[in-house]
Amino acid sequence: MGATGGIIERYRQYLPVTARTPLVAMGEGNTPMVLSRSIGPELGCKALYFKLEGCNPTGSFKDRGMAMAIAKALEKGAKRIICASTGNTSASAAAYGARYELRCIVLVPAGAGEVAVGKLAQAMAYGARVIAVKGSFDAALRLVREASARLDIELVNSVNPNRIEGQKTGAFEIVDDLGDSPDLLCIPVGNAGNITAYWKGFKEYWQVAKARNLPRMMGFQAEGAAPIVRGEPVELPVTIASAIRIGNPASWKPALVARDESNGMIEAVSDDQIIDAYLRLARSEGVFCEPASAASVAGLMKLPSLGVPLAGKTVVCIITGNGLKDPSTAERRARVDFEFVEPVLDRVEALIGAPVTRI
Ligand SMILES: *Cc1c(COP(=O)(O)O)cnc(C)c1O
Repeated sequence: MGATGGIIERYRQYLPVTARTPLVAMGEGNTPMVLSRSIGPELGCKALYFKLEGCNPTGSFKDRGMAMAIAKALEKGAKRIICASTGNTSASAAAYGARYELRCIVLVPAGAGEVAVGKLAQAMAYGARVIAVKGSFDAALRLVREASARLDIELVNSVNPNRIEGQKTGAFEIVDDLGDSPDLLCIPVGNAGNITAYWKGFKEYWQVAKARNLPRMMGFQAEGAAPIVRGEPVELPVTIASAIRIGNPASWKPALVARDESNGMIEAVSDDQIIDAYLRLARSEGVFCEPASAASVAGLMKLPSLGVPLAGKTVVCIITGNGLKDPSTAERRARVDFEFVEPVLDRVEALIGAPVTRI
């Protein structure tokens, strides 16, 4: 693997790689699986792992699929790429576009709070053309689907099958790390590309006997943006978890297939449950993720009440994105105020107490 090696080189035999496919890479994939010290033991799991997809080059799992989508775009001679985004897809597309000299156009929903500031800053720093659509993500996605076809610009949303191909490598890594599939995979569901991709990856590894078992796929939507749970599109999705604020998921049907084939479930978690999990992850596990990512853990913590036993189970939660992308949530929800002090040792000691005497 090269110094910037990524998923394409590592998993090329399982990917749509030809002799003419450039090995696009900037260090995506090979993300850590961190063993839970607090939540897993409390739930009685045999082992709970957090797969830290925030460790990808632009801070989310989108880089896996983007690397593959960009490789195929370059292979066919594309000059421009376009996507609709709640933030992370645009950050990823903009980064890979910059590196591989593809002009990148992103359409984001224009409303306040629709896209986290960190993600927008990324897209702009990488030099993408950012267009704010006065409408929802779903409207933006509809527009880019039509515009890309008419103007011959490569569409890099997860409706592009190469995105799914790249993202399935997350499942390969889990099996490579654990030696088999986990019992349960917990994952946030927005446009439903990732749950589709993971299920494809687990099945492909199982078909070539790299895994003996298949996991139950446990997908979680935010209560105010839960079209799959409700069985109908949501006109005006609302949730603090902007990365999964999607009312009409593009990969709705394959997500249902993943759920049903795996004997899994797709359930809703409330924003309060998401925030609880978000703070719990930071404070008891040292994992700072974005709110959407915490939906996987919020969902896991809800499973006992849904009658799913966790005792003795090996569970992986996909922690889809880095917490620094959306710091305003922590600022607003952590409910901890600064304390101020004069720059004097006595005053500081008065605040933090007597010196610790060790016994
Ligand atoms: C894109 C994204 C999701 C949702 O993934 P889908 O493939 O749209 O279901 C979840 N969390 C984060 C951080 C994301 O960027």
